Amino acid sequence: MRVLDLIEKLNRENDLSKEELVFILDHITEEEKQVLYKYSLETKEKYYGDTVYMRGLIEFTNYCYRNCKYCGIRAEQSEAERYRLSKDQIMQCCDQGYWLGYRTFVLQGGEDPFFTDEVLVDIISSIKKRWKDVAVTVSIGERSEASYKKIREAGADRYLLRHETANSDLYESIHEDMSLASRKSCLYTLRDIGFQVGAGFMVGIPGQTNDILAEDLRFIKDLDPHMVGIGPFIPHEKTPLGGFKGGTVEDTLLMLALTRLMLPKVLLPSTTALGTLDNKGREKALKVGANVVMPNLSPTNVREKYELYQDKICTGDEAAHCRQCIEGRINSVGFNVDMGRGDYDGWRK
Ligand code: SAM
Repeated sequence: MRVLDLIEKLNRENDLSKEELVFILDHITEEEKQVLYKYSLETKEKYYGDTVYMRGLIEFTNYCYRNCKYCGIRAEQSEAERYRLSKDQIMQCCDQGYWLGYRTFVLQGGEDPFFTDEVLVDIISSIKKRWKDVAVTVSIGERSEASYKKIREAGADRYLLRHETANSDLYESIHEDMSLASRKSCLYTLRDIGFQVGAGFMVGIPGQTNDILAEDLRFIKDLDPHMVGIGPFIPHEKTPLGGFKGGTVEDTLLMLALTRLMLPKVLLPSTTALGTLDNKGREKALKVGANVVMPNLSPTNVREKYELYQDKICTGDEAAHCRQCIEGRINSVGFNVDMGRGDYDGWRK
């Protein structure tokens, strides 16, 4: 096996076996990465041209009853100052976002029992009623099938639920009282219900190997989601994984490029976590095939409280500033902002 032959095959067939993926991850050189990145960018351009979609992110609650060992808003992180936005505050964020041109709102939060199906249905249906041309993405973790159905019927278009890692031993070692089987089952349910679905994983989780990263790529190939969120793990000192080393920008870029070639039409965010590790991290991701950015629309007085990991960027910036800043960054690497809904290529509305 030669890495370059495997990269050619991946570019041609958009598929590789687990063994072939591990071989690439174990042996790829800097020069070979440049070939891979050329193909991953060309693939993104084939489906999405030079555009990058913008989503307005509203982090509406940092209450969470889960205890993911890496996450700064885990239930047992007693120093996290908790907040939840009211329906009015969420509507105000959307109002400002709509005025700034956003046509997708991403409602993300911890798993907060305050947000019952009834409360969520009211918020989502109010957003969809008020702004007819927007897409709503929800990202609030694991819920029952009945709950997902109600959220979908209320008008939510998309659901983000990273699988975090596709290896069950690793998954279970970093999540208390949670199982990979249940996470995967939620993803398949969401897809069957008719959401555009986003899976995804962290790069650099303590104990993660190339073999495990290849399992992530195989899992997303089998699930065939519409979106894949990939970001480096960044330690938070007040969590059980706080003393470990985090993931790197380089490894994350490699996984983004391989994902682009495994799922050519996928919506692939250039994540805030990348921008946190490297001032140019998000631009680098766009250059290897990412095509989505998610600037923050949350009120500035709660931004610092949604501290999943330390030194998270953009916590002090007004929404209008974030909008301009990201657009400048996108333009600086030769791409253009698309403020439309930005559905998956070929998605029926
Ligand atoms: N509760 C929802 C869920 O579980 O999908 C959404 C919110 S959760 C905080 C959003 C994402 O943040 C997770 O999927 C995880 O990948 C990421 N995250 C949490 N802690 C992180 C850390 N220390 N480093 C990098 N990403 C982290």
